Amino acid sequence: MGFDTEKFVCYVSEDRKCSLCNLVLDNPVQGPCKHVFCSGCILPWVVEHGCCPFRCQALNTGNLTNVLALRDLVLNMKVVCEFRLNGCTEQPKLREFIPHIKECAYRKVRCGNEGCDRLVCAKDLEAHEIQDCGFRPVGVCESGCGAVLKKNDCEHDCIQYLKSEVLNQQTRVQNIEKELKLLNDQLKTREKELLLRIKGMKKRLQFQGIKLVNQEKNPETMPVDNSMECTTKPEPNNNGNVIISPNNSNNNNQHVGMATEGIIVSKVLAGGPAQKKGLQTHDQIVKYGTK
Ligand SMILES: [Zn+2]
Ligand SMILES: [Zn+2]
Ligand SMILES: [Zn+2]
Ligand SMILES: [Zn+2]
Ligand SMILES: [Zn+2]
Repeated sequence: MGFDTEKFVCYVSEDRKCSLCNLVLDNPVQGPCKHVFCSGCILPWVVEHGCCPFRCQALNTGNLTNVLALRDLVLNMKVVCEFRLNGCTEQPKLREFIPHIKECAYRKVRCGNEGCDRLVCAKDLEAHEIQDCGFRPVGVCESGCGAVLKKNDCEHDCIQYLKSEVLNQQTRVQNIEKELKLLNDQLKTREKELLLRIKGMKKRLQFQGIKLVNQEKNPETMPVDNSMECTTKPEPNNNGNVIISPNNSNNNNQHVGMATEGIIVSKVLAGGPAQKKGLQTHDQIVKYGTK
């Protein structure tokens, strides 16, 4: 659907109108026959009829192209403000119409004073709220009830005011209690979830413990994980060195390197001191013997 001609400041010529909706072209498109329509009008037509509305040729949605020059022409035409009846005399271009009405000084806005539901022009809002509004605050009750008095509060009753304040506070307390209950329920649900997870973790740990005990009992039948070697109890050898043996590989070179805990034997030379002491490659010496 195109734009209403009434919107436009000047007369709109026929070549800027859509033949389907008879309104000013909105996002104009044309087929090879050069007949122009709003895209929103011609697309459903082509889908249904498969031809130009003037019956000049067959058309499908792929035949249609945007007429950008015509679209710009229409978007640059001046329109009247939606709030002209409130007094706005501005004539923005069609492309600036929406931003203008959002900010127009003559658009109606609601008074912000509690109890007042008057709609006033945006440009008059401040004056209304501060000077004219019957609900504008004019001071605090001198009897000490704490009420902020409004301009039209001619029959202020402290007791009445305090009663309504008590009611308001009760409602507030009730709302807070509701929120607390909700939070409490959420916490309980979360706690249940966490407890279930902990239970699952405990079961897994127990299972892994049983597996490890079985590995220690039957090292030949169970596959040995090297990373678990260090947890086995180191035995002193006949030289008094406490050795952890990760493997049984033989190497004829001798070299002793530092490890994070104790010393790792990286090479054993045939007939060398390391071999005499009965050390093997990758043995970890945690404590030196006294022999
Ligand atoms: Zn149209
Ligand atoms: Zn045509
Ligand atoms: Zn305006
Ligand atoms: Zn007001
Ligand atoms: Zn009072």
